[in-house]
Amino acid sequence: MTAATTIYLDHAATTPCRPEVIAALVPYLGEHFGNPSGIYGLSRASRAALDAARADVAAVLHCHPSEVIFTSGGTESDNLALRGVATAARRAGRGNHIVISAIEHHAILHAADELEAQGFAITRIGVDGTGQVTPEAVAAALRPDTCLVSIMLANNEVGTINPIAAIAAIAHARGIPVHTDAVQAPGALSLDVEALGVDLLSLSGHKFYGPKGVGVLYVRQGLAFVPQQQGGGQEAGRRAGTENLAGIVGLATALTFAEAERPEVSARLAALRDRLAQGLVAAIPDLIINGHPVDHLPGTLHLNLPGVDGEALLYGLDARGIACSAASACSAGSTAASHVLTAIGIDTINSGASLRLTLGRTTTADEIDHVIAVLPRFVASLRGTLALAG
Ligand code: PLP
Repeated sequence: MTAATTIYLDHAATTPCRPEVIAALVPYLGEHFGNPSGIYGLSRASRAALDAARADVAAVLHCHPSEVIFTSGGTESDNLALRGVATAARRAGRGNHIVISAIEHHAILHAADELEAQGFAITRIGVDGTGQVTPEAVAAALRPDTCLVSIMLANNEVGTINPIAAIAAIAHARGIPVHTDAVQAPGALSLDVEALGVDLLSLSGHKFYGPKGVGVLYVRQGLAFVPQQQGGGQEAGRRAGTENLAGIVGLATALTFAEAERPEVSARLAALRDRLAQGLVAAIPDLIINGHPVDHLPGTLHLNLPGVDGEALLYGLDARGIACSAASACSAGSTAASHVLTAIGIDTINSGASLRLTLGRTTTADEIDHVIAVLPRFVASLRGTLALAG
């Protein structure tokens, strides 16, 4: 394997559209360009494709198609969930307090900051040493005026999976709706909203081999929810704007494949990820693996490398044909400490470089073995211990 060959290990940041997705969506950029809201044949074909995509997404979520809202991605879905429920609760005089966790994506954290500036009370609950939100912590945070709990299904940095069903049961016992950011979950975890017990759930097409700029917000039938974008009556009046039909068809196709292949792909990724972890642990002294030892996404391996400069590591790996990141894609260019690692209690100053290696459906054993061959030697050279490492 040459340095010019890129080994892509940043699937948590984004994934390539799979060929079947491109084949499915392209006709909706050209031939089938009709606006789904029109009444003539061209538009009716577009409407049929939109309805079929909605039914396909609903089948994976185990919900009714009318509960699926198409959005512009995970960020919009998260914002819409928080603002939509908070606005409805405030209007109804039913509560002013929202519970989130400290390890949420910035789409939740910053949306919550904005709601706080508008007078909502926000509780940001901490996590344990594995990055997990415990049901007990959620229970302790609930108040009589809590109108929403929003906890992510799986974390995008360390990959830890949260016990959402147990968290939802606690909130529901108090009559409080629950949102989960499931953006990292498709293809790895079940998205069955009944089993998860959630009232709102966010997805983003580009995280599961679908297009960028398209997402889903599931909103349970009957939940008080105020749309946050005014205009036409699309998405049953809950999200105005002409639909991104090609993106929606692509997302639905990708989600159907991700769910069908989930058992096989997640087992394969888990085995490759374990092989990578074992190979690196054996070859790199002091290496720390972050996240939950069992409840983690199958393809995510998050490391700390004490005594290693993070920037030099990432640029050097890039030069060696290995594409990965330190934390999330959104903070890849930032030198600020990761809020996730800080919440876990990792001393980001002294723990050296952070490295997130996220495998995907096309990752091969050869690629993993190449990383196991290259990374320890490079880490030793950055630590100035190459001679010792041999
Ligand atoms: N939530 C999580 C957990 C994510 O990982 C991301 C993307 O990195 C988002 C939300 C935002 O999704 P999008 O890129 O579609 O706006």
